[in-house]
Amino acid sequence: MKLSFLGAAHEVTGSCHYLQACGKKILIDCGMQQGPDEYERQELPVTPGEIDYVLLTHAHIDHSGRIPLLAKYGFRGSVCATEATGDLCAIMLRDSAHIQEFEAEWKNRKGKRAGRDPIEPMYTMEDAEKAISLFMPCSYGKTVHLEEGISIRFTDVGHLMGSASIEVWVTENGITKKIAFSGDVGNLNQPLINDPSYLMGADYIVIESTYGTRTHQKPPDYCEALAEIIQRTFDRGGNVVIPSFAVGRTQELLYFIREIKERQIITGHPNFPVYVDSPLAIEATQIFDRNRENYDFEAIELLRRGINPIQFPNLITAVTSEESKNINFDTTPKVIISASGMCEAGRIKHHLKHNLWREECTIVFVGYQAHGTTGRLIVEGAPSVKLFGESIDVNAEVVRLEGLSGHADQPGLLRWLDSFTYPPEHIFVVHGEASICDTFSQILTDRYHVPVTAPDFGEEYDLLHNVKIRDGIRRPEVQTKSSSLPTGVFGRLIAAGKRLMVVIEHNRGGANKDLARFADQINALCEKWNR
Ligand SMILES: [Zn+2]
Repeated sequence: MKLSFLGAAHEVTGSCHYLQACGKKILIDCGMQQGPDEYERQELPVTPGEIDYVLLTHAHIDHSGRIPLLAKYGFRGSVCATEATGDLCAIMLRDSAHIQEFEAEWKNRKGKRAGRDPIEPMYTMEDAEKAISLFMPCSYGKTVHLEEGISIRFTDVGHLMGSASIEVWVTENGITKKIAFSGDVGNLNQPLINDPSYLMGADYIVIESTYGTRTHQKPPDYCEALAEIIQRTFDRGGNVVIPSFAVGRTQELLYFIREIKERQIITGHPNFPVYVDSPLAIEATQIFDRNRENYDFEAIELLRRGINPIQFPNLITAVTSEESKNINFDTTPKVIISASGMCEAGRIKHHLKHNLWREECTIVFVGYQAHGTTGRLIVEGAPSVKLFGESIDVNAEVVRLEGLSGHADQPGLLRWLDSFTYPPEHIFVVHGEASICDTFSQILTDRYHVPVTAPDFGEEYDLLHNVKIRDGIRRPEVQTKSSSLPTGVFGRLIAAGKRLMVVIEHNRGGANKDLARFADQINALCEKWNR
């Protein structure tokens, strides 16, 4: 019974934990690292063909994004997830594959002119389809017996439609241990989805810490706040551009804009147009609409009154890529909601290119911006950013709509942990920037007086005896975009080199004979390639 941490260890994205029990190999999430060096950080530290299950907490790509990569390299087990998560993953993984194929093609066109070797997309649409076919729906609250000695249960954690905490019971040698994976813990009072549900107890808890050191400000009246931004921007003749996560955040924005329109808060711009320019966001909106049984009380109440909570007049969603380009040639002030939320990919890059330099426009950030992303640079006040190889001045008003977060803050995370009725043997803190993981760990140690660890990458624990059996390594923090990190095939080589260091570290204390043989093999490889 062993648990190791293969992603989101002292990092915010790339969630992946690895449980070995009863002869089975199980991943809990298999997310994609996001940021500038994404190709470099996607190597799989497990043998995909050996994995029996992936237990998926929710559909966000930093939790699900590498499942197609697993499928590409031989994973044929099951992906256990709620039905809504499966629905959302079906569109998100296809979208992810599409973006990667597209970006590889674009880089290759550029690379060819510069005489560089072609790069391969990390995975293709075919790999995504393979992954999607492996999903196995699990309902909230129902215990599923996966294998002899292994049971799981999903509980609504209020972070995204379909999101869950996962409890895993493992029995080995007559001893049962329960491990609770928090997934991303949601916020209270979010539109459309329910508040987080709480768990009763566990021997081991793996908890996220995105906002582990922060207390969200008292949430503003989003309608009022958003309406003020729209009013002043439209009065200046500008557009409001909102880089948004296609799934979840976009539907929340639609919820607020519907209310703004219904209450007629905006004056002088009757029936203003709102574009959702992201095919993914549009499909996700349809999935939300199909999974209405997961809505919270307020949304169900609206439905009862015959009001679709995420629909309103002059909401324009059917946008081809040609129409998308034309949006910015029409001078009517408008709201443009587009993906991706951190401005790293997708059509949002076009909208930023057309609106960032215009001082009458406003860019509204409504979600977390990871280190190194274009979104983070803009939020932190960069005077210009690079888009499509072109330097674009940031003259637009930049607004951060605080509090519109799918993540619980520190009091929310503590509330989730406080609900456990008996002390766990060990708490593991993951999914946070390095310093936040460490600080939050200290807070939990002081509060619960149990061992709390923020594990490093590759760190491994024996859960039967609650002891560390393998050290991990601290990966360097993702750097900002200005640093020149290698990408493409060379990036893969660098990643392979780093992986080699992890494997070397894992062999510490091994038999001298084996270590010598390993060293000989590495040296032979170096001889061969040292040119
Ligand atoms: Zn998430």
